[in-house]
Amino acid sequence: MIGEPVNKICPTCGGHLELGRANIPFIFGETVVVIKSVPAEICTNCHEPFLAGEATDRVMSLLRQLKMLQSEVSVITYPEPVTV
Ligand SMILES: [Zn+2]
Repeated sequence: MIGEPVNKICPTCGGHLELGRANIPFIFGETVVVIKSVPAEICTNCHEPFLAGEATDRVMSLLRQLKMLQSEVSVITYPEPVTV
């Protein structure tokens, strides 16, 4: 998270993005995974969440693990990274 501009613009509507937490559903065929409290940049206008770089990596590895469980619906909470 170095050199990230603070003020970002929503690519969907041009609104202002603010850092926050979002519950984001991911759908793969017949599998639905909801990850809660994902750190994201959320549009103050259309409320669309956009994952930041580090969160994207963590979410992707979570989704890979969940795929192996072969559960049709999973709801998990984003694991907090260990802060130093
Ligand atoms: Zn927007």
